[in-house]
Amino acid sequence: MIELVIAERCVECNLCVKVCPTDVFDSVPGGPPVIARQQDCQTCFMCELYCDADALYVAPDCNRPTPVDEKALLASGLLGRYRRDSGWAEWSGDPRYTNEHWRMEHVFAVARAVGETTSKETVP
Ligand code: SF4
Ligand code: SF4
Repeated sequence: MIELVIAERCVECNLCVKVCPTDVFDSVPGGPPVIARQQDCQTCFMCELYCDADALYVAPDCNRPTPVDEKALLASGLLGRYRRDSGWAEWSGDPRYTNEHWRMEHVFAVARAVGETTSKETVP
């Protein structure tokens, strides 16, 4: 789930606003966008992928918000790592980073569980 827009890194390009499939962000004239509808986040990581400034953080828990500390996050090296490890943009073609999707594991597990429940309910 989207947790943070880091103002000091944001260059106000509003790409995250445009690519978010569930309209989670609101753009703000003269400032970074705000997370206006966090509960609508699908944890798809698209905003992280498109944020060249590495100013966004999406936590892997797709069910509930994860408390995060901005300073700790900035020091952690996590910002931009999903973009890098997905071989996105400037990382494209770098054989060290080949779309590992490492932060999607929790999302995939939840999707699998939902899929299994649904198929048990629908298959006689
Ligand atoms: S994509 Fe990144 S830099 Fe652009 S507005 Fe969103 S948070 Fe800011
Ligand atoms: S993770 Fe996906 S759904 Fe959530 S805010 Fe980013 S683009 Fe929108």
